[in-house]
Amino acid sequence: MRAEFQHREDLVHFGRLIHQQGFVSACDGNLSVRLDSNTVLATPTSVSKGMMQPSDMVKVDMQGNKLGGERNVSSEIAMHLTIYRIRPDIHAVVHSHPVTATGFASAGIALDQPICSEVIVSLGAVPLAEYGTTGTPELSASLLPYVHDYDAILLANHGTVTYGSNLLQAYLKTEAVEHFAKIMLVTQQLGQQQTLSPANIRKLVEARTRYEGNTSLASMPAGPLRPKHVDADNISDKEMPDINVNDAFVTMRKR
Ligand SMILES: [Zn+2]
Repeated sequence: MRAEFQHREDLVHFGRLIHQQGFVSACDGNLSVRLDSNTVLATPTSVSKGMMQPSDMVKVDMQGNKLGGERNVSSEIAMHLTIYRIRPDIHAVVHSHPVTATGFASAGIALDQPICSEVIVSLGAVPLAEYGTTGTPELSASLLPYVHDYDAILLANHGTVTYGSNLLQAYLKTEAVEHFAKIMLVTQQLGQQQTLSPANIRKLVEARTRYEGNTSLASMPAGPLRPKHVDADNISDKEMPDINVNDAFVTMRKR
């Protein structure tokens, strides 16, 4: 188990990374880690995430009340706390505004097209949450339909939020979302997308469970979003004995 000073250094490190990668500008974005059942350590507001010190971090309880720190936490912490409350398996959250992914979020387009094999294995679909005003309960409420079944969400007209079992995993998902968004953009510029077949999606989903050492696919629940271009009615029982491939693709939550 990592000590608090290590979590502070991790927040500095990954804050610098999201700044260097261009996922945030100025003082945008925020990162947090769950220290224990009632304490979250978060990055401060009004500070560049590329220029933080370990002592800049702010401790809050699960209601968002400040427990310690010289600086103040962003009002967007409510979004982090919502995710921690819904997902006990999550210990770190990264919120940023990566240019391409935020472009999709601002165009009203989810990243849920099964066109990249690696994305299906590592990330899955990224749904688009409804617009919610920053700093109000609207933003957290917009996430509620998705947090349980996805590990990465586009925030309409705003940015992205990703989360994982630790800060590295949460950060890597932001990287993966932005990379996928760039690929999506290229396919749109080329004027066509070659969607993977349901049978091939199924093989990739199976590969994902092997890599992750996961439980059976049959236990994966249906996600709220389904790729429109994969027609479940055309998948025969013979081809798909155990799972609905659409559900398996859109549901990235590991069971
Ligand atoms: Zn934001």
